[in-house]
Amino acid sequence: MHERSNNLPGRIMKANAIPDRCLSLLVVGLGPAGVACTLQAARDGLDVLAVSDEPPGGLLRAARRLDNLPGCPGASGLSLCEQMALQLAASRAAQLRARVERLERSADGAFSASLDSGERIRSRCVCLATGTRPRPWDVPVEGDGRRVHRDARSLPEALADRRVAVLGGGEAALDTALWARDRGAEAVLLARGEKLRSAPGLEAEAREAGVIIQLESRVERAACTELGWALALDRGRVFRADELVVCIGRVPRDELLPASTESRAGLFLAGDLTRGRERYVATAMGEGQQAALAAAAFVQTGG
Ligand SMILES: Cc1cc2nc3c(=O)[nH]c(=O)nc-3n(C[C@H](O)[C@H](O)[C@H](O)COP(=O)(O)OP(=O)(O)OC[C@H]3O[C@@H](n4cnc5c(N)ncnc54)[C@H](O)[C@@H]3O)c2cc1C
Repeated sequence: MHERSNNLPGRIMKANAIPDRCLSLLVVGLGPAGVACTLQAARDGLDVLAVSDEPPGGLLRAARRLDNLPGCPGASGLSLCEQMALQLAASRAAQLRARVERLERSADGAFSASLDSGERIRSRCVCLATGTRPRPWDVPVEGDGRRVHRDARSLPEALADRRVAVLGGGEAALDTALWARDRGAEAVLLARGEKLRSAPGLEAEAREAGVIIQLESRVERAACTELGWALALDRGRVFRADELVVCIGRVPRDELLPASTESRAGLFLAGDLTRGRERYVATAMGEGQQAALAAAAFVQTGG
């Protein structure tokens, strides 16, 4: 998992470059929140290392086009992620591709993070910016359930003459259906409710782009064969598709959070991990930056 071979600022470190000193700040997750935290901390001269199990940008990579991020009208999530990766590489921050599996407090009050490689990193402060994971989909699936996509990142590039079913009624589902349309698919959104839960402008754009929206369509069972998907809807209806994307919401990746009775001194949270429904890039970035400032104050006051 570890890539490239030096420990210069801004470079991805390899395994044997894991510092044995105690860092000032360990950032876990390099979505928009973790990137903002890491850049601010590096700018302020903190000894910071960011560890993420995905490339910089995190879930933003799944966003087709952003219209609510000031200064970046119409930018794709992917292009923003590429910019973030370049900016990080040019910064003084070190980064590592790995998964943090456990976070514990040592006797001296510092944090000890265990990586999937078995190595450990020690740090006085930690920013958890671990985002979300897809909400479990509890519909019974016959056949190869691994063929379910949970966002647009895993969809094939070329989808001309293919039918893509997108389950869900929120903004991520509409964005994903639009992405499938961009790639030439017949995109059909199947939503359980009587109306969608999304910004009206996005729904209008999707309809104009030819996304077919089927409301009151609850999938009760699914079967996947080499011919594609057969989705059994309520009232005995069957819907067929070549690809299936299930966008029914996301839940916080909070497994590294300590038990509520433990002290959280030196631990800062940022981004989607902390939010219920309204999860946006600008909010995540702001919280990441605030976490870096709070960590700097904590270190300065000898906390
Ligand atoms: C389809 C779609 C469209 C969207 N469109 C928009 C939009 O138009 N405008 C907008 O503002 N927002 C949009 N969003 C939301 C936006 O992408 C998120 O709000 C943002 O990415 C959250 O940033 P984050 O840093 O909190 O978390 P994430 O982006 O989820 O990043 C967290 C990162 O941490 C990593 N990680 C988690 N646990 C660990 C661990 N233990 N060890 C190492 N790494 C770990 C994850 O793999 C991930 O890479 C969209 C989202 C989707 C899915």
